[in-house]
Amino acid sequence: MKDENCIFCKIADGKIPTEKIFENDKVVAFRDIDPQAPTHVLVIPREHFASSSQVEDDSIFGDLVGSAVKIAKDLGLDESGYRMVINTGKQGGQSVPHLHLHLLAGRNLGWPPG
Ligand code: AMP
Repeated sequence: MKDENCIFCKIADGKIPTEKIFENDKVVAFRDIDPQAPTHVLVIPREHFASSSQVEDDSIFGDLVGSAVKIAKDLGLDESGYRMVINTGKQGGQSVPHLHLHLLAGRNLGWPPG
């Protein structure tokens, strides 16, 4: 399913140009437009889910995390480390209503998050 008004659906379909760094039949990964770390990549499913709460087939989470781990390896982040985050809903800090995983790296990331 797609949502024709969804910005990430448009990115996945190539209707909005982005620096894509990985894609397969399930997911697309591209650089965040407002990076919060030296490396900030978003991994999204091609299919539209408004948030993680809307997912019915859990296998998409394996696709997102597995792709992020592969991207991290390809970008040489294994040794220095990285963080994967899925913001969900209002208090989770989600601003774009299309499921996405943040891959952040390149600086010391604080904990707990703000
Ligand atoms: P969240 O706050 O978890 O929903 O994250 C949404 C992310 O999408 C933010 O980090 C935004 O900077 C990013 N974002 C929004 N629009 C675009 C875009 N057109 N291209 C790349 N990243 C975007």
